Amino acid sequence: MAQNQDSSVQGAFDLAAITEPPQEVVERARELRQTIEHARELYYQQDAPELSDAAYDSLERELENLEREYPSLATPDSPTQRVGGGVSQQFAPVQHAVRMYSLEDAMDLNELDAWLERTHAAVGHPVQYCCELKIDGSSIALTYDHGKLIRAATRGDGAVGEDITANVLNVKDVPTELSAASGAGDFPNRIEIRGECYMPKASFNRLNAAIAADNDEIIQHNAEIDAGNATGRHMALKKPFANCRNAAAGSLRQKDPKITASRDLATFIYAIADQSMVPVASQHEFLAWLKEAGFVVNPNIRVVNGEKAVHEFCADALAHRDGLGYDIDGVVVKVDDFATQDSLGFTAKAPRWAIAFKYPPEEKTTILRNIAVQVGRTGALTPVAEFDPTTVDGSVISRATLHNFDELARKDVRIGDTIIIHKAGDVIPEVVGHVPELRPKESVPLQEPTTCPSCGSPVFRDGAFLRCDSAECPAQLQERLEHWVSRGAMDIDGLGTKVIENMIAEGILHDVVDFYHLDVETLANVSRGELKKDGTPRTVGLTVARKVMRQIEASRQQPFANVLFGIGIRNIGKTTAEAIARAFGNIDALMDATVPQLCQVEGIGEIVGESVVEFFETQANRDLVERLRQAGLTLEEDMSEIKPQTLAGYTFVLTGTLEHYDRTQAEELLRSWGAKASGSVSKKTSFVVAGPGAGSKLVKAQTLGIPVLDEEALVKIIETGQVPAED
Ligand code: NAD
Repeated sequence: MAQNQDSSVQGAFDLAAITEPPQEVVERARELRQTIEHARELYYQQDAPELSDAAYDSLERELENLEREYPSLATPDSPTQRVGGGVSQQFAPVQHAVRMYSLEDAMDLNELDAWLERTHAAVGHPVQYCCELKIDGSSIALTYDHGKLIRAATRGDGAVGEDITANVLNVKDVPTELSAASGAGDFPNRIEIRGECYMPKASFNRLNAAIAADNDEIIQHNAEIDAGNATGRHMALKKPFANCRNAAAGSLRQKDPKITASRDLATFIYAIADQSMVPVASQHEFLAWLKEAGFVVNPNIRVVNGEKAVHEFCADALAHRDGLGYDIDGVVVKVDDFATQDSLGFTAKAPRWAIAFKYPPEEKTTILRNIAVQVGRTGALTPVAEFDPTTVDGSVISRATLHNFDELARKDVRIGDTIIIHKAGDVIPEVVGHVPELRPKESVPLQEPTTCPSCGSPVFRDGAFLRCDSAECPAQLQERLEHWVSRGAMDIDGLGTKVIENMIAEGILHDVVDFYHLDVETLANVSRGELKKDGTPRTVGLTVARKVMRQIEASRQQPFANVLFGIGIRNIGKTTAEAIARAFGNIDALMDATVPQLCQVEGIGEIVGESVVEFFETQANRDLVERLRQAGLTLEEDMSEIKPQTLAGYTFVLTGTLEHYDRTQAEELLRSWGAKASGSVSKKTSFVVAGPGAGSKLVKAQTLGIPVLDEEALVKIIETGQVPAED
């Protein structure tokens, strides 16, 4: 029986039953959708996620809950209704003869039990389940014609995948011909076999070690160029893979099959597009057939009856997780009998006859060796846990912030403790707690410092934070100077941490204005903190010094917002700095602003307002502004840059690939003319700009009769601030 999608989601649009969501819910759903779409793009298209899977899952879950509560939000283009993943133009598209689905998730045992109960009720009698490991890799579909492999594809968006045949031919355990014993060679038609391609942990570690070694060479090469000892161009560092899944997906989706061949991938196969083609009636029999046909099938499967046995399998798999040579992210529980599976069918996104029980984020234990205290740019003292290097979710970590001393006291971790770490929330490592039984007897809590570890000045309490407010503190100065040269501020390249540290130590830099009184010779003679082969210190050198000086010179032209961001007012990020610069126009108006006036600026609340007022109440900061003025920095907004708001009232949705801009940039440019940019299409959308690869948003625009533009039209709008005339 071929697997057909049913249309149950459409039933959600019974208008009479809809309670309209409040505005803040609509807004939250919009934000969630945008964040989820962006995370999917990074995860599926670029194999470089920024969120942990647990964090991603919890966002998707939040959106699902909102949509359940307010069904009008559950439009067919919502990520909750679509299989994640897309089709890159790098590969030829492959239309799947039968859709490829995702799986419904159960995040804890309660959710798993709810599914078991639902399934039991739907089937009407006790159900037998086939429990399998959930391999953390990338889905593949293998098409065999008369037993010969003719094509391999990714899942893509479920309907259309990417042709990766040349690459899969380099995955050694994928049979190019099926064994005659299975009878597969005699099949009259093509069969499509599906499974997971993964990278074993050992291969993953080797791959990342090779990337790290390459990066060492690149750093060396770039340093030689900077020092004037070599010619050529700087090379970009290679990004290590975050985990086995990304390494597998990234290796499968290479343009050059030779790279895939060098990556040591493997497979576990578990599904077929059309179950009626095989001479078996259940999942466990089918897995045996796959083995006979020549596929690699994961040996850890169990056919069970009842909730208790399912729980046991989940617990056993979790207990043995670390000992497996590959990553798993949970267990898949499938109704074993094919006929029962057929009777249950599919939702838009997943079969009703299977569920993925997802494991919580990986937690590891390690020994806390030290709690360092760092001093930030605004003087906040941050305790940082330093521990034995440990691999968590595929990457080695040895430090984690403890945020502040209240948090440290709450967690009560002490040097020598066996601590528990994980990477929840995002990719940033976190200390969860410690194992009380393993606490060394003599251990004591870290005393809150009373003086700054950098300058020795007394520190004071500021809410949850301890702060050093000494204007002379070298650690703060270091952070402030690094912030000043950073990309969003003055964007001055070539002054690394060590060089700045040495310039402070040598008394060359006392504050950011000193950059503008530097000369080439002084800078050229600053030590880079490394030794040459002959044992003498390596200095910045004339070539680099000249380049840096040109950039310092050019930085006088950086816009007012960059200066405002660069001077490091607490709580002022780049976007806020831009909003303030636009609203006040120049530094003098800003220096006199009151908190209520600041709060009038969109996106600014009392805390930010107070930070600004406090900053300019300090005489030293007012003096700094004067000296920046004398140094020729830009302290007023260039009003000619502010465009007339001709696109106010228009809402744009950009979808598909753009050639001229990246999407964020195009949205920013539209906003500069007063337009709104949104992530989802609704009746309120004025225009949808669709590039190649546009999918459901384009369909929705067409359904709602919203004008669809191509990129050429977008370029015109961005250049002129005018929308096209109606035909
Ligand atoms: P999924 O990975 O949760 O489950 C479906 C997939 O499991 C199937 O397509 C199949 O490839 C795989 N699978 C592995 N072993 C299997 C087995 N034995 N039987 C059946 N299927 C098996 O769903 P998905 O749609 O592929 O991905 C969604 C998940 O991806 C999210 O829940 C999240 O964890 C992750 N994700 C993370 C980010 C991020 O930013 N970190 C972004 C997008 C998605």
